[in-house]
Amino acid sequence: MTGADGVSVEQSSRTLNRAPAWVAEAIRSREAESGAALARPPVPGRLRVGHLLYTVVLDNAVINEENTRSQRTLSGYSDSTEQRIALRADLAPDYEAEVVVHEVLHQCLRVAGIDPDADAAAGLKDVEERTVNALAGPLLAALRDNPALIDYLTHQEPR
Ligand SMILES: [Zn+2]
Repeated sequence: MTGADGVSVEQSSRTLNRAPAWVAEAIRSREAESGAALARPPVPGRLRVGHLLYTVVLDNAVINEENTRSQRTLSGYSDSTEQRIALRADLAPDYEAEVVVHEVLHQCLRVAGIDPDADAAAGLKDVEERTVNALAGPLLAALRDNPALIDYLTHQEPR
């Protein structure tokens, strides 16, 4: 058991939020023309999911290594035993955000104690992957479209 979860290019191309490469190129071009980067914050270098603190890396070599190991074509993968979330470094911005949500959803299941191989052990096709694929885009959209919801959900009383 590796504990690794990934989102593949083939699977993600079926989702609605996959931005084509020309979108990323258009953004890069606009940034170069204006001399100023758009105000999109970078992917956080660390993410906490439950009791685990994950390092987030944007590294094609890491993804390519995982592609070789898993015989898949991944845009990202995550591993609770390594406490690492890895993303391709050349993803279009909206798709990159979807992949981050996708991997966080996988890791929510890991910290809840759900075995990544549970579907296979039960003789099921990868239900988790289909479910995470189905949820990532709409969840990202719901968070983006409802900033008041984010304020509400993240509010904590002072300790
Ligand atoms: Zn996945």
